[in-house]
Amino acid sequence: MKIHNFSAGPCILPDEVLQEAAEAVQDFNGLGLSLIEISHRSKDFVAVMEEARSLVKEMLHLPERFDVLFLQGGASLGFYTAAMNFLPEGGKAAYIDSGTWSNKAIKEAKLLGDIDVLGSSKETNYNHIPAFKNVDPASAFLHYTSNNTIFGTQFSGTPDVSVPLVADMSSDIFSRTFDANPFHLIYAGAQKNMGPAGTVMYAFDREALGHTGRTIPSYLDLAVHASKDSMFNTPPVFPVYVTMLTLRWMKSMGGVSAIQQRNEAKSSLIYNEIDRNPLFEGHATPESRSHMNATFRLRDDAHAARFDALWTEAGISGLKGHRSVGGYRASMYNALPLESVQVLVDAMQALEQNS
Ligand SMILES: *Cc1c(COP(=O)(O)O)cnc(C)c1O
Repeated sequence: MKIHNFSAGPCILPDEVLQEAAEAVQDFNGLGLSLIEISHRSKDFVAVMEEARSLVKEMLHLPERFDVLFLQGGASLGFYTAAMNFLPEGGKAAYIDSGTWSNKAIKEAKLLGDIDVLGSSKETNYNHIPAFKNVDPASAFLHYTSNNTIFGTQFSGTPDVSVPLVADMSSDIFSRTFDANPFHLIYAGAQKNMGPAGTVMYAFDREALGHTGRTIPSYLDLAVHASKDSMFNTPPVFPVYVTMLTLRWMKSMGGVSAIQQRNEAKSSLIYNEIDRNPLFEGHATPESRSHMNATFRLRDDAHAARFDALWTEAGISGLKGHRSVGGYRASMYNALPLESVQVLVDAMQALEQNS
C-alpha cells in the first residue's frame, strides 16, 4: 500500500531522490566506491558541495553579496550562531516569540546580549502570529521564525522593519518566494523541507559579518566556514548530497514559485475541509495559518478512535499532533503530493458520513 507521509520532520523526500541517494551509497558516480567512504576533498564530492551551494543561491535569488554554507548542529545551534555572528558585544537585538523554536532562539541569544521580545502569542498557546511593537533602531537585527512547525502558524510575508532581518526558516525554506535583500541571515535545518537530518543551511550577507567585536570560536564563525567554501572540517557528506538532489528536484519542478503554487493548492484543500466539516476545528487562527503544517482537532474526542482507524487504513502516517498542541498535524512539505492531502480529506469526509 502507498504510504502518505505527513511527518513533521524529518520530512518526506521525493521518490527519485531516495532512489538516487540509495544508489550513491552503493556506488557513487561509477567510482566503485560509496559516497560515504570517499574523501570530502575528492573532486566528486567537492562538486556536490558546490552544486548544492549554487542551487540555493539560484533558487532563492540571493544577492551577489550572499554566501551559502552547509554546517552541522542543526537549527538548534543556529540559534546561538546567529547571535554570535550578528549581535555586537554589548549590543541588543529584537525577537518575536511565535512558538517553541522562537523561544529557544531567544534563550540562546540572551547568553550574548540584551534581547527585546517585541511580541508573543504564548498566552493563547501560539495559535497566531503575534502583533509586535516597533523595533528599537539600535537593535542589530530582528529575529523571527517564519513558520512555526509545532503550532501550524506562518508569517504571511517578510516583516517590514527598519533593521536587518535574521530568520529561522527551517520548516518553510523553498516553499515560497521571498526577497532576501533585507536579511543578514537565513538559516534552516535541512530535515523539514529540503533533505535529511544532519545539516543546516546558512545563507547570509558576508558584508554584515565581522562587526561584533567578539572572538568567535572557529566552528561558530561563519566567516571561517565561508573562507573554506563550507569545507572547514569534514562536512556531513550524505545530508549535503541528498539536499543537493532535492534542490535539483525542486528546480526540475519549476523552482520555488511553481512549488509555492503546489503548496497553496494543498493547504487550501485541507483548510477548506477543516472549515467545512462540522467534526473538526483548526488550532491556528485563519490569518496565521501555515501552508506547511496544518494543526486541527476533533470537536468531540469521542470520534478519535474511528478517525484514527480511518486514516491509518488509508495509509496515512505521521498525523498525530505535537504533544504541546494535541489533535492532529498534517505536515505538507514540498515533496508531499496533492493526492496525499486528498486521501486525508477523504478520511475526514468518511468520518462525517459515518457519524
Ligand atoms: C525542527 C525545527 C528546529 C530545530 O531543528 P534542529 O535541526 O533539530 O536543531 C528549529 N526551528 C524550527 C522552525 C524547526 O521546525
